[in-house]
Amino acid sequence: MSQIVRVALDVPLYRYFDYLVPGDEQVTAADIGRRVQVPFGRRTMIGIIVDLPPTSDLPNEQLRPIETVLHDLPRLPDDWLRLTEFCAGYYHAPPGQVMLSTLPVALRSPKSAKGARRLARPATSAAGGQALPALRAEQEAALAAIHQAGPGFHSFLLHGVTGSGKTEVYLRLIESSLLAGKQALLLVPEINLTPQLEARVAARFPSVALVSLHSGLGEAARQRNWQAALTGTARIVLGTRLAAFTPLPELGLIVVDEEHDPSFKQQDGVRYSARDLAVFRARQLAIPIVLGSATPSLESWANATAGVGRSRYQLLSLRERAVAGARLPLVRRIDTRLDRAENGLSAALRAALAQRLECGEQSLLFLNRRGYAPVVGCPACGWTSGCPRCAAHLVLHLRDRCLRCHHCGFAVPVTKACPTCGNQNLIAFGRGTQRLEATLAEIFPQARVLRVDRDSASTRRQWEALAARIDGGQADILVGTQMLAKGHDFARLTLVGVIAPDAALFAADWRAAERLFAQLMQVAGRAGRAERPGEVLIQTQFPEHPLYQALIEHDYPAFAAVQLAERRQAGFPPYAYQAVLRAEAREMGEALAFLATARAAALEVDSAAVTAYDPVPMRLARRANRERAQLLVESGSRRALQAFLSTWQLRLVALKLPAQLSWHLEVDPLEL
Ligand code: ADP
Ligand code: ZN
Ligand code: ZN
Repeated sequence: MSQIVRVALDVPLYRYFDYLVPGDEQVTAADIGRRVQVPFGRRTMIGIIVDLPPTSDLPNEQLRPIETVLHDLPRLPDDWLRLTEFCAGYYHAPPGQVMLSTLPVALRSPKSAKGARRLARPATSAAGGQALPALRAEQEAALAAIHQAGPGFHSFLLHGVTGSGKTEVYLRLIESSLLAGKQALLLVPEINLTPQLEARVAARFPSVALVSLHSGLGEAARQRNWQAALTGTARIVLGTRLAAFTPLPELGLIVVDEEHDPSFKQQDGVRYSARDLAVFRARQLAIPIVLGSATPSLESWANATAGVGRSRYQLLSLRERAVAGARLPLVRRIDTRLDRAENGLSAALRAALAQRLECGEQSLLFLNRRGYAPVVGCPACGWTSGCPRCAAHLVLHLRDRCLRCHHCGFAVPVTKACPTCGNQNLIAFGRGTQRLEATLAEIFPQARVLRVDRDSASTRRQWEALAARIDGGQADILVGTQMLAKGHDFARLTLVGVIAPDAALFAADWRAAERLFAQLMQVAGRAGRAERPGEVLIQTQFPEHPLYQALIEHDYPAFAAVQLAERRQAGFPPYAYQAVLRAEAREMGEALAFLATARAAALEVDSAAVTAYDPVPMRLARRANRERAQLLVESGSRRALQAFLSTWQLRLVALKLPAQLSWHLEVDPLEL
């Protein structure tokens, strides 16, 4: 009689693999979660033991024996196995790939697997001896609510304007967790931009082992930190989205800072949401989770404001800035219909810049550089190219002069004149502003202009060098994208100019307004955090738009209420659940034909609660010589969508594909 082990392997198959345990090895339930070396085809692979089934679907003669069970590390905890299994199930990804891909490279490669080094770092416990600020009443109330909720799973949405003391609340919670002998996981969107946070956590808990996990680490450091988490040596883990999978045997608290940030969504491979997985993880571990933001995602806001008995998250609010006397910046609109923004700058903004230059203060010019897919509109009567079949906007495709709905697939030729008023000068929203730096050099030849974007600050070191230059007063005007809006305080910065934000108001991407609001709140939060009051000037042709109105009043709840009402009416998330099937091929015809077959397969799946829309070519369809198209499926029920996807995916996997056609499925897509 031979024992069977079920093993997860890094292969693109939606299943596990059974092996036999040879006579000289002994495997018990305590080995579930251990790495194991096994033969696979002609190779040797590292897998993870996920189960010890009494029998296999295959006869024992067809099973091969494992080579060795690796005992170099503690086993991966049960909750980690459940988390990765859930991720594979929910995002319809091969489970072995999900599991193995979250491990440091050396621990999943057979050659070096045995070389996993043991770590000897002193385990410490005490919190630091810093004098802590006395908590403000709102902070006290938030902490009290979290403590009162007692043990078990509770999810909180901590909504607080920039500088309202959210991080201080996290630090207090982490401290309680450490004192209770637990590990804490703090997830942040981009660690390159958050050295300040890391330093702050380290300073608060100087004798506690803190490790960070992010893509900027070298493999050796990543492995060291990951192992410290798994062995329990590390008590605080600070990391980006992949860190949501860190094995933490004594996890007692999860905090997701800037929970609205799109970078919590993985955009290739397994397209998971680290925030959503973190909530799942907290629930199954029965521990608290705190999602924090000044501008929560509308999904989270809806979850927190659904009403008594229906809210999945408890809402906690910090309404004022924490530092005494620090005021929120004054936000003003500049109507560029009256004050024309010549080469990007209105007269009012020029004057404000000149004034800051004169008194040696810094300014930031914020460009919203996202290449929004252009929507056609009429400046005379306000008509925009809405889709006649659904609530989305039609997008201009120049290649074949068509307007297309990226939501449902509807298409018409471009109209020459406005269908409402006949005006022949239609405009395409969504063109970026260029030449801004040239304009600045011309108007302010004496000013030191510094560009900050993904190219100029792609590594942490580059970013730190830039930040030091800025803090040191070596720049007068910063020009940048959302990169600049995140996480770093510049003490000398007192003016923020928002150059051309309007395109996002009319974008076909109906999440654009949500993103714009979050970015503008965040970038506004950069101005005047120290004793100096800040000012934000927004150049717009639509000053009455409710988004700007809410921004002036720093009123996220008002903005969210308007947006959610629109989403509900349109049947968009969070009131609908979506998945998108994308195909890439050499010819558009092939991609569309595949999606048409996929849609036919979808219609065969018996699911009245799910709608499968028509396939749509992407606007910038040709990328790297590949043609891309997509198909959206949608349902009012998450469960119905999931059930549908499970069946549909089996059929998709079975389809015969033309050479060089590839496809993937994304659940809860953030971009269409
Ligand atoms: P957020 O995370 O909401 O942006 P922080 O926690 O970073 O806010 O707090 C903003 C600033 O206020 C920081 O400099 C912090 O040290 C300070 N601060 C936070 N809480 C208090 C408090 N209770 N009393 C005084 N200062 C505080
Ligand atoms: Zn018109
Ligand atoms: Zn449509």
